[in-house]
Amino acid sequence: MISPTQNTPWKARVITLFPELFPGPLGCSLVGKALNNQQWALETIDLRKFGLGNHRIVDDKPFGGGPGMVFRPDVVESALNAATQENFNTADWPLICLTPRGKKLNQSDSQKWAKCHGITILCGRFEGIDERVIEHYSLTEVSVGDFVLSGGEIAAYALIDSVVRLIPKILGNQHSVIEESHHDNLLEYPQYTQPRIWNGVSVPKILLSGNHAEIAKWRKSESIRATRIRRPDMWNDFLQSRQ
Ligand code: SAH
Repeated sequence: MISPTQNTPWKARVITLFPELFPGPLGCSLVGKALNNQQWALETIDLRKFGLGNHRIVDDKPFGGGPGMVFRPDVVESALNAATQENFNTADWPLICLTPRGKKLNQSDSQKWAKCHGITILCGRFEGIDERVIEHYSLTEVSVGDFVLSGGEIAAYALIDSVVRLIPKILGNQHSVIEESHHDNLLEYPQYTQPRIWNGVSVPKILLSGNHAEIAKWRKSESIRATRIRRPDMWNDFLQSRQ
């Protein structure tokens, strides 16, 4: 796998019925500044352009009955073909389909995708996408959580943001990525700032000690405590990864 270079920044290509939703929140703050500075790139592909007939139809009723509409495989095929013209090697450029039926996104997926040249993301709408096109292109089905959104675009914001902030030099302080929740199968320790006493509650004394080794020890034990209590599933994974 080749890492993105200065000349070809990491790119997210998004197939969507609503290109006007981009960059949206991805245009703000550090990630937005990095987009302006061309440290990463964003391209939208308007699914409607590939629609059929004068009305540019992209969907139809589900076979077998039921509510809603489903994206047609032939329309999605045209959009995917246009999207993958230059980058058909899915090891360097994964093809992702957002769906609540997919594998739940996690930090190691984001870390893996940050090392690719880019990703292509297909955003569904309505009742979803014809299964045949998902299978034909071996799309990687990804969910952002066990709930249902009206469309893949909000899920795409989450996925792209989580990847872009891992690209070297995009966050001001790369160290913060290493300490964060989920980096090492642990949640982050609690954070405190000024004032030292707020509402009668002082920040933990150790954080004011200036003893960096002791602070690191305390933070690690707080990470472990939070993970054990809040996320027994992650704690199990953490223990297994140490074996
Ligand atoms: N009928 C589908 C839901 C369709 S929701 C089902 O029950 O599985 C419409 C679109 O929103 C989906 O095609 C998908 O692209 C997006 N979407 C909804 N929830 C999502 C989630 N949790 N993760 C990722 N994408 C989601």
